[in-house]
Amino acid sequence: MYPQLTELFIAGEWRASADGRRIAVLNPATAEPIGEVAHAGRADLDAALTAAEQGFAVWRRKSPYDRANVMRKAAALMRERADTIAPIMTMEQGKPLAEARGETLLAGDLIEWFAEQGRRSFGQVIPGRAEGVYQLTFKEPVGPVAAFTPWNFPINQAVRKISLALAAGCSIIVKGPEETPASCAALIRAFADAGVPAGVVNLVFGVPAEISEYLIPHPVIRKVSFTGSTAVGKQLAALAGQHMKRITMELGGHAPAIVFEDADLDRAVSILSANKFRNAGQVCVSPTRFLIQEKVYDRFVEGFVAAAKALKLGDGMEKDTRMGPLAHARRVQAMEGFVQDAAQKGARVVTGGERVGNKGYFFAPTILTDVPMEARIMNEEPFGPVAIIRPFRDAEEAVAEANRLPYGLASYAYTSSARTAAMIGERVEAGMMSINHHGLALPEVPFGGIKDSGFGSEGGTDAIDAYFNTKFVTHATR
Ligand code: NAD
Repeated sequence: MYPQLTELFIAGEWRASADGRRIAVLNPATAEPIGEVAHAGRADLDAALTAAEQGFAVWRRKSPYDRANVMRKAAALMRERADTIAPIMTMEQGKPLAEARGETLLAGDLIEWFAEQGRRSFGQVIPGRAEGVYQLTFKEPVGPVAAFTPWNFPINQAVRKISLALAAGCSIIVKGPEETPASCAALIRAFADAGVPAGVVNLVFGVPAEISEYLIPHPVIRKVSFTGSTAVGKQLAALAGQHMKRITMELGGHAPAIVFEDADLDRAVSILSANKFRNAGQVCVSPTRFLIQEKVYDRFVEGFVAAAKALKLGDGMEKDTRMGPLAHARRVQAMEGFVQDAAQKGARVVTGGERVGNKGYFFAPTILTDVPMEARIMNEEPFGPVAIIRPFRDAEEAVAEANRLPYGLASYAYTSSARTAAMIGERVEAGMMSINHHGLALPEVPFGGIKDSGFGSEGGTDAIDAYFNTKFVTHATR
């Protein structure tokens, strides 16, 4: 069922790399190899650049109406193929099958939303100061895009970038995730099968730094979009800046989840615990710093620990699994490092805290309390199934802690007071705030961070602007 070799997709063709190099793909539930992915070299990247340049020349001339028709076919194919794509994703990434299926289906919604936004890429007519003077603006595609997408959501992270680029009339080279290549390739296949012309969408894999260092400065590339860690994002943004390339950066987070004493506590525990451990916590918007008002702190911890202990850990292919393994060995080491460091500095490991079994990359759902501020996990994104729970006295203290870090991606709050909800929505420094429910990441709402969490949005009505130049044309008729 899992492909033996995931190939590169360049100029409308699936192909091995020019020099035949490959990288092994492992199943994180077993740590055993399940297939390989082609490893692009310089010749492959040059071919992809030429293809993207030629593809752009063709695609930019199609009307937004025609582009949207092709994109809608790709959306339908993703939905039709969800049951075959989901197991591929689970085998290479680890997440439970239901999560993989949901991600594949959501791709259909994202493609459709952005296709329609392309059709609404209106310019303006600006009143002139003299009779007979016309002043017009046009939205023009920015040009070929280089996109770098990670392994945590192999389809979701790529589909936003591809759909935005295509809807705007751009071509794209995607550097897909080497750990989870086949589900990302299935997405590219849907666009190809829907009739996207050769060269408009290209897919490469290899050594991420080698590819980004070559593509970003290259004159064919006009825009860079990256999803991944803040550290790497800053490097890529700096490189793009040196070459005056447009950027979108979706980077790390360290989301505060603030629970006030007047909240519906059962609801808060249930929604927050489900979202903490979804995809084993490897989610940029995962709630991480749980700030709980003193009066309800003990009850919240008790409920959260019970929810964590009840989670069925296992291979994502098994029906009753609720949390799969971490995606690769580096994540297990990272979790062990965070927990050891916190424990050494005085934190209490209330549940979990260690690897589970000796096969695959399983790590127990973990809850830490009494974590000192200087512990690494209070300051760095854990990107795994670890929750830090702290009490707070009043709203001022909670807001100060929420805003303490340089991150500003997602944030959450639970309260039954409209006044508190309004205050918290206003004062927490984050690109997104969800109050009393988990309402992020739908196609029609903005998705993006501020501060060190990135630049730009990959959702909602404005996201497509990052793929356009606004051209001004004025003419006098007399
Ligand atoms: P990593 O920093 O090595 O890689 C993260 C991602 O960036 C990977 O997809 C990788 O291919 C890519 N990458 C790394 N260096 C690159 C470069 N020079 N040029 C282009 N792409 C590059 O770390 P990792 O162990 O794979 O992942 C762990 C960290 O990555 C986490 O701490 C988390 O902050 C971040 N991450 C974030 C997201 C997200 O959704 N924002 C997704 C995956 C990983």
